[in-house]
Amino acid sequence: MELREIGEFGLINRIRKSMAASDPDLIQGIGDDVAVVDLGNKVLLVTTDILIEGIHFDRSWIDPHRLGKKALAVNLSDIAAMGGTPRYFLISLGLPKNLPLSFISSFYRGLKEGAKRFHVALIGGDTSLSQKIVINICLLGEGKKGELLFRKGARIGNDLFVSGTLGDAALGLKILQKEGPRGRATGLIGKHLSPCPRIELGHAISGHRLATAMIDVSDGLLIDTTHLLEESGVGARIWEDRIPLSGLYRKWIHAYSKEPHEIALTGGEDYELLFTAPPEIKERISSLARSLKIPITRIGEILPKKQGLHIIKKDGKVYSPSRLGFEHFR
Ligand code: ADP
Ligand code: MG
Repeated sequence: MELREIGEFGLINRIRKSMAASDPDLIQGIGDDVAVVDLGNKVLLVTTDILIEGIHFDRSWIDPHRLGKKALAVNLSDIAAMGGTPRYFLISLGLPKNLPLSFISSFYRGLKEGAKRFHVALIGGDTSLSQKIVINICLLGEGKKGELLFRKGARIGNDLFVSGTLGDAALGLKILQKEGPRGRATGLIGKHLSPCPRIELGHAISGHRLATAMIDVSDGLLIDTTHLLEESGVGARIWEDRIPLSGLYRKWIHAYSKEPHEIALTGGEDYELLFTAPPEIKERISSLARSLKIPITRIGEILPKKQGLHIIKKDGKVYSPSRLGFEHFR
């Protein structure tokens, strides 16, 4: 049997079962956006993400400064998804020997800019020779025990919300692949190259206890919804016409897909927050969205597990999606 048959998530499930840890201080191991360890008065949050040249980025599309910021941003997004506060990070680099030193200094300038913006400090890492550029960041953060939001807290009857707009980064990537970095629709290309983690929003949602479960949308709305539903042991319906789409997405989607919602449903790298909340706090969520000036849209509701995940089209037709989003090895 080959890896492609079980895919990335099948593999992670196997690892999770075979390596199950039982440590009294471990609040959350494999299975959420970050691992959570009880330190007594605080909890430690730990997450890691890898970017590989040719898989996650192409040197002809992204300059090293943006690459540094993005490498940090994708890790920060996982801390945002818990409602935590990022603090320190380590970075391990695999680098080819002919890489210009100017590339590395510009990469670190981008990293520094991101670190300053989100108040995190670089505290170490590792460096090795590699055929292609490999970037791995391990980010440490902290949180308060009663405030953290896991994937597993969604309850039947909760509403499902998402921040920002969806599909912009994935459509931006398609435009980049077709037209190159100087392609039109720079706004969408920018969403792919320079994602902005929702740290302040995640903090506000957890601090004001406005959600029961939360995840960041990194692999695509449907696949990340599925992760949240599986961990919570529930199902959901999503109303397709409520999915928030940007003006630029609406303008460009027709050139790339016959299904106007397809990329918004399955495209990755938006790094928006997806969360569930009881219907009675809808108003408080709307007022948070207004005060932070970040759109938050109610896109669905949580159902019993046996109903699975289904999408309601504008004409009322119901369908269960077969393709959910991006998965490595598939
Ligand atoms: P995210 O998209 O939020 O970064 P992933 O889908 O990458 O989350 O990972 C889901 C869970 O699986 C996380 O708890 C992560 O730490 C864990 N995980 C991913 N890859 C591995 C691995 N190779 N070994 C152990 N745990 C892993
Ligand atoms: Mg995540």
